[in-house]
Amino acid sequence: MRHIEEPARQIPVLMNVDIVVVGGGTTGPLAAVAAARQGKSVVLIERFGSLGGNLTLGLNTKPSGSMVGGLPLELWNLARSTGAAGEDYVARTKTGGVNIASPCDPEIMKMLLTRLCADAGVQILFETLVSRPILEGNTVIGVVIENKGGRSFIGAKVVIDCSADGDVAAAAGAPFIMGSGEDGESLKMQPVGMYFTMSDVDLPALARWARTTDDIPAQAIPATDDKLDYGLWLTGFNKTVQAYKVETGIDLPRENITLKTANGLMYVNATRVLDVDVFSPVEFSAAVIDCYRQIDEYARFLIKKVPGFEKSRISQIAPVLGVRETRHIHGEYTLTANDVMKGTSFEDTIAVDVSAFDVHAPKGEDVDFQGLQPYEIPYRCMVPMGVEQLLVAGRCVSADHVAHGRTRNMPACMAMGQAAGVAASIAVSSNTTVRHISTDGLQAILRKMGMPLHAADLQ
Ligand SMILES: Cc1cc2nc3c(=O)[nH]c(=O)nc-3n(C[C@H](O)[C@H](O)[C@H](O)COP(=O)(O)OP(=O)(O)OC[C@H]3O[C@@H](n4cnc5c(N)ncnc54)[C@H](O)[C@@H]3O)c2cc1C
Repeated sequence: MRHIEEPARQIPVLMNVDIVVVGGGTTGPLAAVAAARQGKSVVLIERFGSLGGNLTLGLNTKPSGSMVGGLPLELWNLARSTGAAGEDYVARTKTGGVNIASPCDPEIMKMLLTRLCADAGVQILFETLVSRPILEGNTVIGVVIENKGGRSFIGAKVVIDCSADGDVAAAAGAPFIMGSGEDGESLKMQPVGMYFTMSDVDLPALARWARTTDDIPAQAIPATDDKLDYGLWLTGFNKTVQAYKVETGIDLPRENITLKTANGLMYVNATRVLDVDVFSPVEFSAAVIDCYRQIDEYARFLIKKVPGFEKSRISQIAPVLGVRETRHIHGEYTLTANDVMKGTSFEDTIAVDVSAFDVHAPKGEDVDFQGLQPYEIPYRCMVPMGVEQLLVAGRCVSADHVAHGRTRNMPACMAMGQAAGVAASIAVSSNTTVRHISTDGLQAILRKMGMPLHAADLQ
């Protein structure tokens, strides 16, 4: 590739704060609120115009596990109290039941997240991209941002990278692997996809059919029709999709699809594009275009072949491509497959998580969704190697490709966000580095916030 020289220039210092949180998605707002409630000045920087990331803009809406305590539970209880989420339910899977927090209404969730941040005193900067960190030696001292006002600098004592892709950590020089890392240049990552919603689905008719067909092996169906608006969750449809493909010759790349309701709307998780390098703008855009084609085809399939969809139509398409996996930043500890399967206990645990194991095979063969015993997330997974005053939380945390099948779920991401916010504020208060804070002190605050840290803490 040819290169040109970008001229150096002076940029203004917009502000100096204690803590910068990069990315106002699923993880970032919880990090920001946790830090601000510890009395720190916090700025939360989000490249889009609303908070929630894959939870809201991505139309994901459903955490694949229950919220076991702390800020994640506070948020979900707030959603429930405003009618933006329903009751938790147990999803039947091939390996037994998984407790799942009800999906939320993503539009209302955007408001709730914003209100939580505002009430805690977090300064939010919307439509602002963090383009790079600035370092002194190997210590991050702030970030360069870019928005309609141009480029400027925000100084910080600690930066928390909740960008999902580990943009700041990678640019700061932290080591990482992409996906499984096994294939070197040809990446092995979970596929991308794009959610859409359908309105006017006859939910009772769909539920009646789902109870009797053998084509939906994983499901949660509320006992009564008045509960169908939240918590109807159906995964399978393989035989129905296969038969439709044979009948029509249409290319539907994913045969195992998921439907779920939130606030009466049907959320469809069906599209799939394999082998996308999301850091290539050309490949990324091609994937978006392919998802649009697939959404059209899957909607047609549902209307023609699935009872209850006869009068339905597409009502919303996620404005963002759903990316499941990119960088795993190498931290002081890398969570392994064994840790999340066996539930290894850690002295520096910052959360116990009960999320499902959820891996979409990189080559598209299948989806492995199972309930497993609780596992713990150690603080060291959020402390990148080689860079000071930087934490990572959320999808890009230090976990191998298999362990990521659990840590990428939203309850885990939110719990990590909460812990990163508290850890950063401890570092600021005690004038030490995030690498050297007292994890006993961190755990004491997390416990006070109502966060279970070990399996034994779960009721
Ligand atoms: C199709 C799909 C289905 C899924 N299904 C489930 C499910 O059923 N249950 C479940 O629990 N999980 C599911 N997941 C996983 C889960 O949604 C994500 O792993 C999780 O939401 C990631 O949270 P995050 O905060 O790390 O990232 P995001 O929620 O993506 O947030 C990152 C935020 O950072 C912002 N950002 C990024 N870079 C910058 C930058 N440089 N400057 C400023 N802002 C930036 C983004 O705009 C975004 O708002 C699914 C994922 C996908 C893609």
